[in-house]
Amino acid sequence: MCGIIGVSNHEEAAKVAFLGLYALQHRGEEAAGIASYDGKDIHITKAVGLVADAFDERSLGALKGNVSIGHSRYSTTGSSNVKNVQPFLAMHRNKPLAVAHNGNLTNTETLYKRLEDEGAIFQTSMDSEIIVHLLARMKNGDIKDRFISVLSQLEGAFSLVLLVGDMIVGVRDPQGFRPLCLGKLGDGYILASETCALDLTKAEFVREIEAGEVVLITGNKIESFFLPEKPNRNKSFCIFENIYFARPDSNIFSDNVYQVRKRLGARLAREHPVKADFVMAIPDSGNYAALGYSQELNIPLEVAMIRNHYIGRTFIQPSQFMRDFRVRVKLNPIKTVLKDKKIIVIEDSIVRGTTSRSRVEELRKAGVKEIHMRISCPPIRFPCFYGIDFPSQSELIAANKSVKEIADFIKVDSLEYLSLEGMLSVVKASKDFCHACFSGRYPVPISTTQGKYLLETNKTTGS
Ligand code: AMP
Repeated sequence: MCGIIGVSNHEEAAKVAFLGLYALQHRGEEAAGIASYDGKDIHITKAVGLVADAFDERSLGALKGNVSIGHSRYSTTGSSNVKNVQPFLAMHRNKPLAVAHNGNLTNTETLYKRLEDEGAIFQTSMDSEIIVHLLARMKNGDIKDRFISVLSQLEGAFSLVLLVGDMIVGVRDPQGFRPLCLGKLGDGYILASETCALDLTKAEFVREIEAGEVVLITGNKIESFFLPEKPNRNKSFCIFENIYFARPDSNIFSDNVYQVRKRLGARLAREHPVKADFVMAIPDSGNYAALGYSQELNIPLEVAMIRNHYIGRTFIQPSQFMRDFRVRVKLNPIKTVLKDKKIIVIEDSIVRGTTSRSRVEELRKAGVKEIHMRISCPPIRFPCFYGIDFPSQSELIAANKSVKEIADFIKVDSLEYLSLEGMLSVVKASKDFCHACFSGRYPVPISTTQGKYLLETNKTTGS
């Protein structure tokens, strides 16, 4: 997953993009980059690491111009190296052409082969680079028709912010997998993955970019049009954004993430109640569902694990060693609260099961008597091909074990998941959501050769 931002018509466009990326840090902690354009020169800074570390006063000061785009990266296609940091920038007809992409294309291989046959030379292993190659091939003519002809060739998940000369372009794929919103800032506009970025930059929320919409922003002028709909395709907003990915203070898919998570917890309580001394969350991801669960059953909520805020999200670091280390160092249980208690532990989801297992082990060490774990979504049994790093089925614990076997692996006294119907019942327009990771019903066809490293050894990457 990734965070993307675009700023138009602001004299400190790059600084605004920096603040926006700061707010979007949770969407990707591997790398960050900002490109800006001053009408004459293009400026770009990219680095591996957190947003706060990737830029300093000097590098931000050098990013001149009143348009900029930025990206914070969590790789879902292509490995985590400097070459694959976005925005991806090229010069075309003396003008900059840069892309910041959130999501994964599903027809990468076909497009890649076609472009290579036409003589394209690729610099990265990111699927996002394909978009730049296609844009560079746009024929002359009406700008709207040109964008439609290029973007209609893409399949899968793509929320994009592009810098094309002095124009900023926002795009959301016709299924609308990933969020993208529009804000007004002074005399210009800002595009961002989530509304929390508007809050930090003091921009005023205008609206969400709709599924299939393209907005062209030049200065303070904005034009919008839609990509043609593909037959038999519904909207497919990613339900996992609501469960885990997005920030709770953001509004996405016409709803507030915090409220959705609380409703997931309340529904979970109705589906799988249990009597206990108290409810607690695995922080921070389980906090809001735990609140909903506790309020629904009138069972007290305790904050019995303290999070070390100087450590990032555990799954972001791709190697297993780093993940394990981060899992251990991140949370610390409070023994005096936990000793001899029967507790309900709420987690937003279980992916590999390693975090949950180690948390339970720590709770046991703290003297807990009984642990009843409740999960605010159904078992994740299928990989995601649209931008979340649920890679292969072999790594997904629920693809390989029954709920009872998972409970034994995690070593809890009981384990229950929210049902698919229950999960969908708490969001508005539930038929507009993608739930492929739970149901295996993929709304956009996927290729069997797809994968994070498709464009390495001559293959693809995403974000
Ligand atoms: P685990 O028990 O090891 O499966 O870790 C589960 C926690 O990691 C939950 O809070 C998940 O929501 C969170 N998580 C979110 N996305 C991912 C991911 N792509 N891979 C692994 N864990 C993730």
